[in-house]
Amino acid sequence: MKYVSTRGQAPKLNFEGAMLSGLARDGGLYVPEHFPKFTKAQMTALRGRPYEDVAFAVCAQFVGSAIPAKELKAMISAAYATFDHQAVVPLKQLGPNAFLLELFHGPTLAFKDVAMQLLARMMDWSLAKNQRRAVIVGATSGDTGGAAVAAFEQSQNTSLFILHPHGRVSDVQRRQMTTVKSPAIHNLAIEGTFDDAQAIVKALFNDHKFRDGVGLAGVNSINWARIMAQIVYYFYAALALGAPDRRVSFTVPSANFGNMFAGLAAKRMGLPVDKLIVATNSNDILDRTIKTGRYQVTGVHPTISPSMDIQLSSNFERLVFLANRNDPAAVRAAMGSLAQSQSFTLKSPALKSIRAEFSSGASSEAETSASMAETLKHTGELVDPHTAVGLHVAMQHQVQSPMVILATAHPAKFPDAVQAATGQTPRLPLHLSHLMNAKESFKVLPNSVQAVKDYILSQEGH
Ligand SMILES: *Cc1c(COP(=O)(O)O)cnc(C)c1O
Repeated sequence: MKYVSTRGQAPKLNFEGAMLSGLARDGGLYVPEHFPKFTKAQMTALRGRPYEDVAFAVCAQFVGSAIPAKELKAMISAAYATFDHQAVVPLKQLGPNAFLLELFHGPTLAFKDVAMQLLARMMDWSLAKNQRRAVIVGATSGDTGGAAVAAFEQSQNTSLFILHPHGRVSDVQRRQMTTVKSPAIHNLAIEGTFDDAQAIVKALFNDHKFRDGVGLAGVNSINWARIMAQIVYYFYAALALGAPDRRVSFTVPSANFGNMFAGLAAKRMGLPVDKLIVATNSNDILDRTIKTGRYQVTGVHPTISPSMDIQLSSNFERLVFLANRNDPAAVRAAMGSLAQSQSFTLKSPALKSIRAEFSSGASSEAETSASMAETLKHTGELVDPHTAVGLHVAMQHQVQSPMVILATAHPAKFPDAVQAATGQTPRLPLHLSHLMNAKESFKVLPNSVQAVKDYILSQEGH
């Protein structure tokens, strides 16, 4: 399996190369040259099998010969042994045709754990094999950071620098990152928004001298290995609901579009997916783009679903590539326009192909709160504000197939919003009860690429 850059001006890499490089050297994102296909018989054979078996079947297609099967199996088992539910990602019925896919049973209570637990193991294995070290940098709107810290805490071959927007993540989210004591973990609070933090990370990758000097690697969803790990649960859920003999729809609370892109990838691999519905909060660039064809950056404003408070959606570039039939020139034109004028317009064949596969909707703050209250009243389930965005948007769409709403976080991660909307206080699972009293450590830095660079160099002893 080979991976190509969406901008077509970086070398093709194998799985290991794509995983360790994160962003391609031309600023693009790696995508598989073509999607492996599952036959109906192969899918039927996976029905009823444990999550780990489905994960191996899917991941082995993308990993190819980069990791021996025995090693990959062991990493998958270890990754999902950290989850506190036997089904790993249980599917819960909410109504006659609606299901919640609970992706939050990992160590940090958000779906980011699903990919991060596996990615950390694969990276550490690969670095050890090649006798290399890596400096990992990542930006977080709240959940990626905690998931990365939990996953890389034990890593032997990496240092991790996580940038979060200062004062714009929830207390639980921040504490999950800042209370972990390990010399390899560095928390940087950037005086800016998530988009500022993400822009700094991209700038570090695009500085090839710095990148090569420290051995930079990335764990944001620009890293293909994360998308790969997320494809698994689309298969797992659809198979449980009757695929490949029945089509299934998905609604995904979306921001950077990594989770949603994994759903599209599953469809390209042969999974019978009916509708893919993109749900956003009032930071609605994805909804506007699908409705109008124009990707236009406006301002970011804070909401009660902070992990979705972004405007620049990096994985949308992967969709632009696929919708333009893998034409990197079309992606370069769009990204050039984005850099210059904060916007681009999708050409009509590309927009048509996107609309054939996706619908979208946005949830206002009031609608998200009402969705939490209604869900509790009608189903007895306490859901987090991100999941509530998904539920609200899913309810606006009529589909014939079973609808799976991805539950991306545990309600206890966002207790204030849940309490305000429902009057109930979600309890943190026992293993996190120490969190609110533990000592925090993080460094506040200005919104400046140079400041972050200098800090990393000082910590790495350069
Ligand atoms: C990261 C995150 C999202 C957005 O996922 P993307 O892959 O960036 O679209 C939604 N909900 C929660 C709870 C998250 O942590």
